[in-house]
Amino acid sequence: MNLSTPIEDIPRIGPVYQKKLKRLGIKTVQDLFFHFPRRYEDFSNLIPISKVKINEICTVYGKILGIETKRTWKRKMFLTEAVIEDKTGAIKATWFNQPYLTKTLRKEDNVFLSGKVTISKNGIYLSNPIYERGDLSSDLTHTGRLIPVYPETAGLSSRWIRYILKPLLTDLEDQIDETLPKEIIKEYKLMPVKKALWEIHFPSSVELSQKAQHRFSFEELFYIQLFVLRERNRLNKEKSVSLPIKLETIQNLVKSLSFKLTDAQKKSAWQILKDLERPRPMNRLLEGDVGSGKTVVAAMAVLNTVKQGYQAAFMVPTEILSKQHFQEMAKLLQDFKVNIGLLTGKQDQFRSKKLKNQIIEISRKKLLEKIADGEMDILIGTHALIQDKVKFGKLGLVILDEQHRFGVEQRAKLCRKQDIVPHLLSMTATPIPRTLALTVYGDLDLSLIDELPKGRKKIITQVIKPEERKKTYDFIGKEVKKGRQVFVICPRIEKTNDNEQLSEAQMSWAKVKAVEEEYEKLSKEIFPDLNIGMLHGKMATKEKENIMKGFKSKKTDILVSTSVIEVGIDIPNATVMMIEGAERFGLAQLHQFRGRVGRANYQSYCLLFTDSHAKKTHQRLKALISSEDGFALAEKDLEIRGPGDFKGTRQWGIPDLMMNSLKNISLVEKTRESAKQILIQDPQLKNFPQLRAKLSQFRERIHLE
Ligand code: ADP
Ligand code: MG
Repeated sequence: MNLSTPIEDIPRIGPVYQKKLKRLGIKTVQDLFFHFPRRYEDFSNLIPISKVKINEICTVYGKILGIETKRTWKRKMFLTEAVIEDKTGAIKATWFNQPYLTKTLRKEDNVFLSGKVTISKNGIYLSNPIYERGDLSSDLTHTGRLIPVYPETAGLSSRWIRYILKPLLTDLEDQIDETLPKEIIKEYKLMPVKKALWEIHFPSSVELSQKAQHRFSFEELFYIQLFVLRERNRLNKEKSVSLPIKLETIQNLVKSLSFKLTDAQKKSAWQILKDLERPRPMNRLLEGDVGSGKTVVAAMAVLNTVKQGYQAAFMVPTEILSKQHFQEMAKLLQDFKVNIGLLTGKQDQFRSKKLKNQIIEISRKKLLEKIADGEMDILIGTHALIQDKVKFGKLGLVILDEQHRFGVEQRAKLCRKQDIVPHLLSMTATPIPRTLALTVYGDLDLSLIDELPKGRKKIITQVIKPEERKKTYDFIGKEVKKGRQVFVICPRIEKTNDNEQLSEAQMSWAKVKAVEEEYEKLSKEIFPDLNIGMLHGKMATKEKENIMKGFKSKKTDILVSTSVIEVGIDIPNATVMMIEGAERFGLAQLHQFRGRVGRANYQSYCLLFTDSHAKKTHQRLKALISSEDGFALAEKDLEIRGPGDFKGTRQWGIPDLMMNSLKNISLVEKTRESAKQILIQDPQLKNFPQLRAKLSQFRERIHLE
């Protein structure tokens, strides 16, 4: 047997367990070794029975005086009771619903029991202790030490994993080769892999378990850094078109605006235009808070591309947004004689450069022709853009608004017919904490729009208690009377049927406000004389569009919606953002919602409704009230919720135990430095086959995205 032996060939693992392991992505012995615990239980406190204390977690060792299983009086549960004795005394142990225990543990056996000392009217006992047979010289696995607890998955207990893992590790440890380059192990004083595997699964002390974790955290981040840095190097060798800056045209665009660009907009636009000038593909992330004005910066890049004879594609996440961007682009570029197309799921549109303000419907066939022969300068749309049928004649620039981080993949799909790689600009209003910008987004250059246009009023943010609901509705009514509009966000769509049988998780979900319910309540009971609209992701496109049109043209006063409204919707007349079940959303998302209002000069409000009393919720909502800085909020979100909730983080497959390393800036910087060193030494990683293998794993995972 060796590290690449498939789990099917491990004698103790039967077909049922093979399936379960596969579901976790564990296919070989090696995978099993690198399936890390999530945390540890400390059972190292081994004491004489006479010394046990109530509520303390401890391990005792003794002989079983007796053990039996009975049914509890309700006849619903098995209760197993045992008494064990050492030289100093005896103690009872009880287990629920483990009747087979009387087969494993017998009278006269010597056992270790680890668990919590509990008290009832019949005295003290160990409640559901973990057991292990053996004697005092045994090398313990489940008790009497720090024991690993693995991520829970149906039917795979931590006990079973320990039972399988330990003998394998013992037998095969000599075959485990170091995975990190020697010089890095040395320079950063990392624990060697063999020792680290032992210490991460069966630590001899808390300190050593942490050293092992540190080593593997370092390793995970190091791989990510290698991947993104190599990705960068690779793109730097690709050819793209050089699009020299058409200064006069750009200046004319800036002059035609009804506002002055902020310094941050100018700086970002300049960085982007400079990138376009290079014959290498741009690979840039434009990061700017909601309302910071990314669209006009994108328009400058688009115009420059088009005026150099190339096409620009602009991809957005929803149809509503594609339409909005289409109209916005048509308006921003109306003086510049460009053809703009809109390609969505169904209905396509076209604004020819000859028709200044007129938008016409166009057949899909016509539109595709215009894209292929290069007549279409700018194409805006949803995911429909990456279908096989869409072939660009001369694509020079791809812009992605609020897409996944893996824009590189999408670009690859967009330009599969071309021999040049178009420039890529990815835009996001989700501020990315610094550690993540340097790791999971580390292959992108960054432009920040870190200031809002002048004169925006601060949005008043408040948590609304249940008893203040009525008062708040009155306030909303008054805003509408003043001519303003209101968003109401609910966490889910449908109300639940009262007769349904619900699981506990469903019950808690059922209490969450539903769009349909809220819509009914608002339109029938609270504001019968106002116009209320409803919007959610399950509606037909046409319907959604009509609803948005109605809201934009002020026919609707209040729009009840799910989070589809989240990104990019621009309704300057809206002044109230009311969020139901605010505890259900992350800080970054709440901040996004808030950014939907305050887009004109009216005082605006963000009202957070919650029935939750959880401390974390209030901590989060407080952070939202006290800060309008999206970047600060993102850092806070990272701190409170952890990196796993950030877009683009999960697909790297970082084990739970290592996730927190993504918060550690000094570790991130160290790993980046070390990855750079290695790549300078050996850009192709010729001498590091293991590293190359790991990187192709990453690429595969990202492809599956
Ligand atoms: P986002 O970055 O969220 O995509 P938008 O590009 O939609 O922001 O811009 C938000 C609003 O601000 C738009 O109505 C836009 O016309 C306006 N805007 C953009 N830049 C400025 C500026 N420098 N001064 C004033 N208003 C601006
Ligand atoms: Mg936007």
